[in-house]
Amino acid sequence: MSTAIRTAGLRKRYGRTVALDDLDLEVAPGEIHGFLGPNGAGKSTTIRILLGLARADDGTAEVLGADPWHDAASLHARLAYVPGDVTLWPNLSGGETIDLLARLRGYGRSSAYRRERDRLLHAFALDPRTKGRAYSKGNRQKVALVAAFACPADLLLLDEPTSGLDPLMEVVFQQELRRVHEHGTTVLLSSHILSEVEQLCDRVSLVRAGRVAETGTLDDLRQLTRTQVSFADTGAALPPLPGAHDVERDHGRVRFTVDSDDVASVLPTLGAARVTGLRVEPPSLEELFLRRYGERVDAGVGE
Ligand code: ADP
Repeated sequence: MSTAIRTAGLRKRYGRTVALDDLDLEVAPGEIHGFLGPNGAGKSTTIRILLGLARADDGTAEVLGADPWHDAASLHARLAYVPGDVTLWPNLSGGETIDLLARLRGYGRSSAYRRERDRLLHAFALDPRTKGRAYSKGNRQKVALVAAFACPADLLLLDEPTSGLDPLMEVVFQQELRRVHEHGTTVLLSSHILSEVEQLCDRVSLVRAGRVAETGTLDDLRQLTRTQVSFADTGAALPPLPGAHDVERDHGRVRFTVDSDDVASVLPTLGAARVTGLRVEPPSLEELFLRRYGERVDAGVGE
């Protein structure tokens, strides 16, 4: 199997709304692949198609070598899914829910599973005795995360999995994701938390208006944007800065941006101008989105 996930030309409409418009996505086995885009870009719709919960109007989708629509039952034994807004059975406790999901995947009875479940309950500080209806939003997310991490899976489909979690739990999530990654699990991680994506993902696909606008490593994507350069402003006339854009002098610093390929060409000029103290920062994903699309990734996310 050369890809864990492959979609080609996926299209999906809801009435007049075009949710997916020719979406091509490839995720290699064993990678953590970031799935990023503004609200409404089509990320959840794609994930629902990959889960066999929605059917594409056109195009093809392949998950772990199988067709998610026709082979949903066998695929679900090999994958785990965490949505951004987890719904639980109201009368089952969190622990009962986690065990039920494990049994559905064929693991509920083994002592290795129970050890792993208890370790995760402790790590996520989750009380498993509470009934589903009584959990807070963050605790519902934790139930789904413990269930997803407690059994071995070939693929994790995570759609804003940490929404509502506090920063401490975000750290636990990242540790657990790295752990399953080391065991070879493939992960598709839709997230608007850019630091999460920057820290975890091998490659990223940027989705916009129902299609993948860009795919690559974070370094590849950063090449598409400009690097920020700044140095202390002595008040002297500025030397010519070849390739510099958006030069401004503000709060005692000179700032400008430069195409990533041109960073080296401005350095000699700065050296000759006796600049001491220089800060060169790669653009963040946020800047990357703003610059390319004029949109914030987390636009409209009310958290
Ligand atoms: P994202 O996950 O990137 O925020 P979605 O896949 O949820 O985007 O949504 C893509 C588009 O499809 C949006 O315009 C959304 O309103 C629309 N959409 C998604 N699901 C439905 C649905 N069940 N019924 C009608 N429109 C939908």
